[in-house]
Amino acid sequence: MCASHRERVLRADKQYLWHPYTAMERYIHETQPLVVARALGSRLYDVDGRSYIDGNASWWTALLGHNHPRLTAALCSQAGELCHTSLAGITHEAAALFAEELVRVAPRGLTKVFLSDNGSTAVEAAIKLCVQYWAQNGAPERTRFVSLKGAFHGETLGVSALGGMREFRAPFEPLLFPCAHLASPADDLDTAIEELERELEAHSASTAAIVLEPLVQGASGMRMYPADYLVRARELADAHGVLLVFDEVFTGYGRTGRMWAADHASVVPDVLCSAKGLSGGLLPFAATLTTEPVFEGFLGGDERTFFYGHTFAGNPLGARVAREVLAIYRDEGILENLGAKARRLREGFAKLGELEGVENVRTLGMIAALDLAGGSGYLERSGWRVYEEALKRGAYVRPLGHVVYLTPPLNISDTDLDELLEIVRASVVAGTAG
Ligand SMILES: *Cc1c(COP(=O)(O)O)cnc(C)c1O
Repeated sequence: MCASHRERVLRADKQYLWHPYTAMERYIHETQPLVVARALGSRLYDVDGRSYIDGNASWWTALLGHNHPRLTAALCSQAGELCHTSLAGITHEAAALFAEELVRVAPRGLTKVFLSDNGSTAVEAAIKLCVQYWAQNGAPERTRFVSLKGAFHGETLGVSALGGMREFRAPFEPLLFPCAHLASPADDLDTAIEELERELEAHSASTAAIVLEPLVQGASGMRMYPADYLVRARELADAHGVLLVFDEVFTGYGRTGRMWAADHASVVPDVLCSAKGLSGGLLPFAATLTTEPVFEGFLGGDERTFFYGHTFAGNPLGARVAREVLAIYRDEGILENLGAKARRLREGFAKLGELEGVENVRTLGMIAALDLAGGSGYLERSGWRVYEEALKRGAYVRPLGHVVYLTPPLNISDTDLDELLEIVRASVVAGTAG
């Protein structure tokens, strides 16, 4: 019965579905995909009841594991009361109380919360907010952006302009707005700082904002860099009157070992974007936070309205779950327990550095990554051989080209983490053999 159920799903899937970030020719002809039926804690279960440890917390979202009973209870309870209403000039408890609690845990000074429904829109809102801010506050010529080589900020055409990954930009290049992609501190800190200094020296009068993934460039291969760069970016932004935006869609909510990556640098950006783990991985939900001075730039006449807002902005289900996420962080001491968990991950990964064909082992908080030797980037297949080996052994470890990485739930049990590390070790050995 299970086998036929799998076949039924796969027949419809291969006939009708177009998968995100998936080469469809290869998928249709070569891939026997994992058919997920349910998930609990750190594990996904397929239609045959086999379990797989979720090595990337389902695209970096399930920070508290899957189907945390308090989150599903909050979702059901909210669904019984109010599933959706707009947030345009009316309000509801879920959004208002979530905003209050988010500000409480946000870097100090970020006191206004603009809600949307995914990471891309959180950054898109940030871009539009910066441009409109300057347009109506005496500097309409500030429309350029600065980001980094290897940056990833999401999917919309707007944020694609900020993105620095060649593969993702290339088809859309002619349509993208002007953005300087500077040397990344993940390649060389000094060069990156010099380039930022020179860029702002030359173009600050036309620059709206610097947009950064603080500490880790996730999608381009878990490329990590020192907090010093963030400190310097803050100083330079202040000196040149440019806004500073941190895209914490991936790094936020404890992923790097602190609540925010910004906390490692004791830097407060003018705008902070949060999504993914913000709603515990249950629902699409996102927040763009900003400061009183930026917010005040939108006060006054009706023409100063921030002209932005998605239909599902502030959706009550997402807001209620997001508020419960914060309650669980408090009640279960998620951040307090991170240190020991991160150490276990770091020590486990350090050993992988001794394997043949493995380079650049690196970790930060609950992120661990390694490069397979000779790898050439996102379209490289070597990581996928490790992925296939890991699936056979009961773990889901989607790679980024030649980069094999783990971003498990923050509260993964020690037993599951140890098993996951052992599977990665065996899969790297098997995947790089021959
Ligand atoms: C995933 C991601 C995004 C996009 O978020 P979506 O919810 O996929 O739209 C933006 N920025 C960063 C840093 C991300 O990792």
